[in-house]
Amino acid sequence: MIVVDGARVIYPNGTEALQPCALRFAPGAFTVLLGASGAGKSTLLRSLNGLVRLSEGRITAEGRDITTALRWHRARTGMIFQQHQLIGRRTVLANVLMGRLGHHSALRTLLPWSLAEKRLALTAIERVGLLDYALRRADQLSGGQQQRVGIARALVQQPSTILADEPVASLDPATAERVLAQLHAICRQDGLTAIVSLHQLDLARRFADRIIGIAGGAVVFDGPPHALGGAE
Ligand code: ADP
Ligand code: ADP
Repeated sequence: MIVVDGARVIYPNGTEALQPCALRFAPGAFTVLLGASGAGKSTLLRSLNGLVRLSEGRITAEGRDITTALRWHRARTGMIFQQHQLIGRRTVLANVLMGRLGHHSALRTLLPWSLAEKRLALTAIERVGLLDYALRRADQLSGGQQQRVGIARALVQQPSTILADEPVASLDPATAERVLAQLHAICRQDGLTAIVSLHQLDLARRFADRIIGIAGGAVVFDGPPHALGGAE
């Protein structure tokens, strides 16, 4: 269980990107953070991974404050970004192995990966349907394929939680839906807690167990998709 307790974020320039909020994320649920650009979705997601420092409040995972248990927390959290942040000239396999770095220091890249880690990476690549591309350069893949590499990279550290910041925002609608469906299916299979930001209501409705609406740095809705009614 991840618990957000009175978390508030004010950036150094004075922007209050997250107003004090209290949220609980139950294990295994697929939660969508829904809001327009600038609403504060990234700020909340990055707070949940300790990438943004809270101005007030605290966030705990399994009862541990994530700022004091940061390495432990990050090792069990897979992060997926809109701009997949792949290294284009490296292979898909190498990019996915980078996901293991949550468990190691940056110096780890200087050492050869173990066979066990390569197996984990290939399994993750297979799960997103890209096994035939494992040894291709990442920049030879389509946008949708690159996003799936981003999913595999998050999975390779065998996380209990997935945090995905606009994972399909750069894709055309049909590809976006396919990639999100795949992420959703994998999270279900593995029982992962997923917190995924989106700006498309239709995608949120289709996949979310719970939608948290965010506007102006505040939580303005929190409930199951059907509770949104016919509102657009
Ligand atoms: P979203 O992910 O919903 O697009 P963000 O969390 O990125 O929203 O941004 C929320 C607000 O905080 C916006 O007004 C944005 O301009 C501002 N913001 C985001 N990051 C920073 C930062 N590092 N410094 C100052 N303001 C920021
Ligand atoms: P998104 O809307 O997809 O979250 P942005 O383009 O708003 O992405 O932000 C990209 C990066 O720039 C993020 O790291 C964010 O924190 C930072 N950023 C966004 N708005 C501001 C701002 N007003 N001042 C400083 N940094 C910002």
